[in-house]
Amino acid sequence: MRGITRVILAVAAATLVTACSKKVSVERCEIPVHISFGQFDHRFGVTEEEFHQAAHKAASLWNDVTRGEAIIISADGIPINFVYDERQARANALNTLDELKTHYQDALDSLKAAFKHVKGTADAFIEQHNAMRYNEDFGEVQTLVDISRVIIGHQQELIDNEYALLRFLDDEKPDNEVAGSFTRGEENKVEVFLIQSYQDLVMLLAHEFGHAIGVLEHVDTPKSVMYETGYPVEPEQVIKLTEADLEAYRHQCG
Ligand SMILES: [Zn+2]
Repeated sequence: MRGITRVILAVAAATLVTACSKKVSVERCEIPVHISFGQFDHRFGVTEEEFHQAAHKAASLWNDVTRGEAIIISADGIPINFVYDERQARANALNTLDELKTHYQDALDSLKAAFKHVKGTADAFIEQHNAMRYNEDFGEVQTLVDISRVIIGHQQELIDNEYALLRFLDDEKPDNEVAGSFTRGEENKVEVFLIQSYQDLVMLLAHEFGHAIGVLEHVDTPKSVMYETGYPVEPEQVIKLTEADLEAYRHQCG
């Protein structure tokens, strides 16, 4: 039976701390590696075009610093497959709830401002008619204030429910989740399990390509492609190979 080299990049959705669950030290360098586009899934929040761009960008990072081509994207290469399961689903749900929460909070703030206005008008009315006994007008104003208070109460309840759901999802989330993997064995493949942005996808693919060409060890320098905890990638971060990445590459490929 052939041994399977499986190097996993793990990511937690909130802290997005990555960690490979297994490290395998094999002295080898396998360039060029042929990579192809496998199963795409739009639920990861990137377009198919961005998927292709990200793969080319990730490949160019290694190709730019190696003599010749390290990664060749071709029709019959090792496929990159998007595998949609509870990891990406949970991250998507948390993002959607976050947006809903903001939406409800905005609505509640507007209602609170409106209530303040109604309450102020009512207070002024009551003040003006302080000497008067209860009459129809006074009753109408008081009713308006009461209705506003009830509506705000309902809105607050909705927001509290969203927060409760967010907390529940957060509690259910594992500390570390596998974001991607490169598998070598009977079936060679690159798999994408969890990304939050295009930048994450570029970083993840560059990382797995690194494993594919033979860089099997992680490096300790933050912002390196082969760093274990490279997520989430900031929108403005320039993804590039660091000196530590190059050293890891030269260690395998000379
Ligand atoms: Zn890794």
